[in-house]
Amino acid sequence: MSTRGAIAVGNLRHWRGVYNHFDSYPTGLGATLYEHLMQRMLEGKTLAEIGADILCFDDWRNYLHGGICEYCGKMTGQAHSISGSILGKRRGKYPDPKAKHHSHQSLENLDEVQFTQNDLADSDLEWVYILNSTSECIHVLSVRERRKHVGDLRFDVTPDFGKMECGEKFERCHHYAWNHFPEIDQNGPQGRLGTRQYLGLAPVNSREDAFAFETKGRRYLRTGSGVHGDYARRCRLAIPMPDPAAWYEEVVGQNGQRFYLAVARAGRREHTPYPGVTWIFPPTKANPVETMRHG
Ligand SMILES: [Zn+2]
Ligand SMILES: [Zn+2]
Repeated sequence: MSTRGAIAVGNLRHWRGVYNHFDSYPTGLGATLYEHLMQRMLEGKTLAEIGADILCFDDWRNYLHGGICEYCGKMTGQAHSISGSILGKRRGKYPDPKAKHHSHQSLENLDEVQFTQNDLADSDLEWVYILNSTSECIHVLSVRERRKHVGDLRFDVTPDFGKMECGEKFERCHHYAWNHFPEIDQNGPQGRLGTRQYLGLAPVNSREDAFAFETKGRRYLRTGSGVHGDYARRCRLAIPMPDPAAWYEEVVGQNGQRFYLAVARAGRREHTPYPGVTWIFPPTKANPVETMRHG
């Protein structure tokens, strides 16, 4: 999934900005933006001047290219609806000079394509960076967290982009726990735990969290591939899955043999353990023993 964001100019109450499509979290776009601003300020531009430059464009990527379309070479708005036939083919020359395989956003009505504080409710932006030339900093908003102002990037101290992204105590971390805790084996029982689960800040009790299943006194490790019994029936999969209301997981037995086991009753709202099956959850930092949920 792409992480959408905006780079804006103004203050915490009033701002206007341009869109960015990919990697807009602080360790991605935040760090790139910071480096870009530092570079341009070293060249003698003020934060206000850089902000004014950015607002001449419709999109952060287009601003970085100076408004020159990387597919046709024209001075225009951000390219979109790019056909697969020209994607990734831009070594040195323009792959689609007549713009037959892509379209552009217009630079005529920037009001329509730029974002303001009023657009947040209907947008899928996740991060907003506001260049504030009065306080000489960049405000960072986490839109997912009710548009919370999570901190400022300042130019006199090197920012900790990781802390800004995940929170001082990992309160907004969406990474797997192994990203932050080297003691975890990515391919081991704890490999699927989120950071907040590992720390006891979020529950560990869903089918997704189980690393193994037990039935009739035997334990089977989960491989990670699963399928709904109903889907298997409709698609006429050759694998035996007799119960159309069950969720089947591929598991590995002690002899290394792989097969599909009914592990959950697949309800509309949630999955619960299948009768006679126990879900096994890995130890966490907060609770260093395995936990179970019985069917
Ligand atoms: Zn173009
Ligand atoms: Zn994190």
